[in-house]
Amino acid sequence: MTFQAASLPAHTTGQVRALVRGRRGAALLHELAHAFGGPYHVLLPERFDANAAAFRTAFTEAGVDGRVYFAKKANKAAVFAERAAAVGLGVDVASGGELREALAQGVRGQDLVVTGPAKPDRLLEIAVLQGALVTVDALDELDRVIALAAALDRPARLLLRRLPPAQPDSRFGMDDRELDLALPRCRSAAPLVTVEGFAFHLPGYDVRPRADLAADSVRLCLRARRMGLRCDSVSIGGGFAVDYVPAEDWRRFDPHEPRHYHAGRTFPGFYPYHSPTAGAGALRAILAATPEGEDRTLAELSRSSGVRLLAEPGRALLDQAGFTVFTVRGVKPRDGYAILTVDGTSLSLSEQWFNSEYLPDPVLVRRTPPDDARTGADAPGPGPYPACVGGATCLESDMVTWRKVPFPTPPAAGDLLVYLNTAGYQMDSNESSFHDLPLPPKVVVTTPSVQPVPHGVRWRLDRRP
Ligand SMILES: *Cc1c(COP(=O)(O)O)cnc(C)c1O
Repeated sequence: MTFQAASLPAHTTGQVRALVRGRRGAALLHELAHAFGGPYHVLLPERFDANAAAFRTAFTEAGVDGRVYFAKKANKAAVFAERAAAVGLGVDVASGGELREALAQGVRGQDLVVTGPAKPDRLLEIAVLQGALVTVDALDELDRVIALAAALDRPARLLLRRLPPAQPDSRFGMDDRELDLALPRCRSAAPLVTVEGFAFHLPGYDVRPRADLAADSVRLCLRARRMGLRCDSVSIGGGFAVDYVPAEDWRRFDPHEPRHYHAGRTFPGFYPYHSPTAGAGALRAILAATPEGEDRTLAELSRSSGVRLLAEPGRALLDQAGFTVFTVRGVKPRDGYAILTVDGTSLSLSEQWFNSEYLPDPVLVRRTPPDDARTGADAPGPGPYPACVGGATCLESDMVTWRKVPFPTPPAAGDLLVYLNTAGYQMDSNESSFHDLPLPPKVVVTTPSVQPVPHGVRWRLDRRP
């Protein structure tokens, strides 16, 4: 029996379908490919706004005093920090560059949370001067931030990051013994230092461990308050899953089958591309969970303890908020499939650089019919037409897609290949100008509902001149 290339169609939205499948949308994508002469990313800020609203609604509906901070590391674009500022979301930054960018896009210092381990003095100083919340990762960092606050004679707002007891090998956060040392140090440094509470960030996407550790951190707040510390906030970090593909396709697909991939490639693991509980739905589930050792939900516990909950979603706020467009440059036939070469590199799809594969099917947007020279005689047989996708570099390993994706029409040079839902981490985490290729530009696409273009589509570059 011959091997059938399996398809994993990605979830989309009406806005994305109009751009990728609609005649005018597809013409715009081709026009932009022509204008830029290379790959580019499309950013959809209206979707970011909608995701932000869904997260806030999850807090409000659960009756929880909650705050949402956009974890900026998930995408380098200016527009998402700009939208965070406009809709009143906080931003989670982990470097001087991210902090500068957030401030430049209008996010107020008091709406920032500065995370990351062993933060440089200069970053801590600016955070203190800006009145930002600082997540302290270690005792030596605590000593430095206390000294800096004293030198500046400005108050520091702190969260203490916990080493999750169930993740003792994590390199982040402080264990109970370290927290026992940290809390009295903070008390001695009062009123220069305010401990607003505790923070954690868990790997994986499970609801239960987040609810459990959140409740444990609320109880820790109550104990710390008895020492005279403020402790009225707990940050539950990020890690709200994104649901990329439908359940049924994901269940049928065996990602570890080598025959799916060019060169029989295998991978140690994959992102869970289907998640029944995702995004704001995952936050709702965490708030509604009854944590270990409690007889009420996390929402009720947070309410009755007067402890605010902070969430730092990155990927989930960017769900469906962007996609990536390559142009097919060449098609090379192989035994039973084709190798496409596109005009960009796998550096624009970071999963490829984590020794894994971004599995949702890319979508072929064909050249518009008048340009299509293929006629009767060389018309292809019935599909599908499986193909893997290589980048425009001289590296064997630079594969944008190792998988043989079954395309409904035979891919041809000049067709566009659209990678859907790439704004969360896939877009630009690992990009470099390898081979002196320029970095792909980012285009902000909006669909204004009012004049000057009712129901039309507008675009601009992400970086305003
Ligand atoms: C990366 C990170 C996040 C965001 O994680 P997502 O999986 O994108 O939601 C939030 N908080 C901290 C501390 C992080 O390191």
